[in-house]
Amino acid sequence: MDNYTARMSINAACNSLDQIWIESGVSEDAVSSHIQVMIPGETACFCCATPLAIVEDNEADIKREGVCAASLPTTMGITAGFMAQNTLKFLLEFGELAYCLSYNARLDFFNNYRIMPNPECKDRECVERQKEKAKIEGVVKKLENKKLREKEEKNKKKEIHEQNQWGIELVQDRDEEKNQEQGKNEISEEERKNESLDDLMNKLKGL
Ligand SMILES: [Zn+2]
Repeated sequence: MDNYTARMSINAACNSLDQIWIESGVSEDAVSSHIQVMIPGETACFCCATPLAIVEDNEADIKREGVCAASLPTTMGITAGFMAQNTLKFLLEFGELAYCLSYNARLDFFNNYRIMPNPECKDRECVERQKEKAKIEGVVKKLENKKLREKEEKNKKKEIHEQNQWGIELVQDRDEEKNQEQGKNEISEEERKNESLDDLMNKLKGL
């Protein structure tokens, strides 16, 4: 997809069919881009998010006068790679899914966030999906719950490992214990130095 009108058409169809859409775009100057996972009713659709939503189906309004859309193969390649990787993560359920990843090529800066759907989205089907998804465990909730379960499993395994099933304990060596006990009763050299002369005299008298 390389234009606003086509994106809006696909967006409307996906909202209507409750079809997940993974989209990407590169800016006009080709030094920033984004990838976005759109799950109808659960994440912002193409129409939900500003600034595109404020433009009412008129592509001319979002194209600046005299600006020719640049094409930088490296930015395109990086963006395509990230989109393919993110799609694999979603399909094969590994790692953290990037719901909306933006890339600034000038600074090599990435920003990763999730945009919630707009309850006042101009796409009626988007609003309908939002109402439906509020009542069920959708894709996002399922992924979050899966992550929670995995975390709990990991913690459980850690506990088992720490306690160990054979009840083996690490005990202190008896000689070591004895030495420590003796050490407690002995006055260290440092403590001796700090004793006042009077204290020492009193101790001598008591002998
Ligand atoms: Zn929407």
